[in-house]
Amino acid sequence: MTELTEEQVRSELELVLERRSADTRLTTMGAGSDDLEDGRQYLAGTVDGGWHVPTWPHEHGGRGASPSQNALIGRLLREFIVPDLYPFAIGLGMVGPALLAHGTQKQQDDWLRPIASGSSIWCQMFSEPEAGSDLANVALKADRDGDEWVLSGQKTWTSRAMWADWAICLARTDPGQPKHKGLTMFALPIDTPGVDVRPLTQMNRDAHFSEVFVENARALDAWRIGDIGEGWRVAMTVLAHERAGGGSRGGGDGNARGIRVPGWISDLRDLGVAEDRLWQNEVVKIYSHDGVSRWTSQRAADEARASGAPGPAGSGAKLRSVKSYKDRAYLSNRSAGCYGMLSDGHGYIETMTAPSMSIRGGTDEIQRNILGERVLGLPGEPRLDRDVPWNESRRGLL
Ligand SMILES: Cc1cc2nc3c(=O)[nH]c(=O)nc-3n(C[C@H](O)[C@H](O)[C@H](O)COP(=O)(O)OP(=O)(O)OC[C@H]3O[C@@H](n4cnc5c(N)ncnc54)[C@H](O)[C@@H]3O)c2cc1C
Repeated sequence: MTELTEEQVRSELELVLERRSADTRLTTMGAGSDDLEDGRQYLAGTVDGGWHVPTWPHEHGGRGASPSQNALIGRLLREFIVPDLYPFAIGLGMVGPALLAHGTQKQQDDWLRPIASGSSIWCQMFSEPEAGSDLANVALKADRDGDEWVLSGQKTWTSRAMWADWAICLARTDPGQPKHKGLTMFALPIDTPGVDVRPLTQMNRDAHFSEVFVENARALDAWRIGDIGEGWRVAMTVLAHERAGGGSRGGGDGNARGIRVPGWISDLRDLGVAEDRLWQNEVVKIYSHDGVSRWTSQRAADEARASGAPGPAGSGAKLRSVKSYKDRAYLSNRSAGCYGMLSDGHGYIETMTAPSMSIRGGTDEIQRNILGERVLGLPGEPRLDRDVPWNESRRGLL
């Protein structure tokens, strides 16, 4: 790809996107929003230029951009209105990069462009009632039947399942192997007979994640992602991209930084908070931390893309971005005083959403375990069931 200049990118983006103004306010991370249309229109409008997933190959909705071009495009995109892409985030940020790393050519040809153009939404069916932090213990089973697999079991906390067209689903294909080894990854259309999605309501009143019951649902072997028994490796790629913030941009006001004063600071200014020296001090601290958090996520995502083997950097990035989100939410909420307790109060939805940030995508404790063991070289925690055949382990015997 030839060199890109700021002027070129800006003028091309101007053809397809509306510029952000000081008054632009957008929702963040799906909190309080069920709008799919804005995101769909944005992705459909940017896919031909490869603007939203610039590092993907052109034929799949990217533009084969280098990391520096990707960073330039990301920076300039923040001058434009990018809607909340929460409904599309699993496909764009996690499934897409995993397909580029582990998918067959046909899978990439069939699935990537619909993801990039917003015409297909994916969800992530990993967690189960007894397998969250200890994800390798998933019990949903897949039995081979000719060219098909028959899946049965239960997933939970499946975000976006009620909007999704496809799920990426981690299943146990060989219970006689130790827990990490008997797993295989599948793609599964969410409307497959035998798949029942039941939304759960969160404390921020969104019903964006679901329990998913699966009973004798049939998946083609052609939908298997990676080799049989290699599901853990694929899952690790997906999770590392989730922690690093994904291979694409999120969108929403929460991610708007750089050229102009971010929306959340303008909101504080409107509330009169920004005039107080003590509040100013807090705002600038959070703003700085947020910048570092963004660069850390970018670095982790670039490293993951460049090495094809995502490392623990994503855990550090996730811890930082969670802290950033929480600090911002709590500051907004506190600045509203007693009105912050009202459900239409400033920062209320973000405050109610904030605790979940420490859980989704792997809890803070699990990220610290990863950093402790893989970065600091601390002794690993006891893992008694690691080498035991899964069907002889406590979970397998349940
Ligand atoms: C808003 C939201 C969206 C989600 N979306 C999805 C999704 O789309 N798809 C999906 O598959 N999952 C999703 N999840 C599930 C999420 O990944 C799990 O909730 C998370 O991994 C924790 O698992 P758990 O809830 O089973 O808690 P548990 O694993 O039971 O953990 C309970 C507590 O014990 C701590 N703990 C557990 N093990 C250790 C350990 N070894 N060392 C120290 N502390 C430990 C945990 O940190 C936690 O505090 C979502 C969760 C939330 C809240």
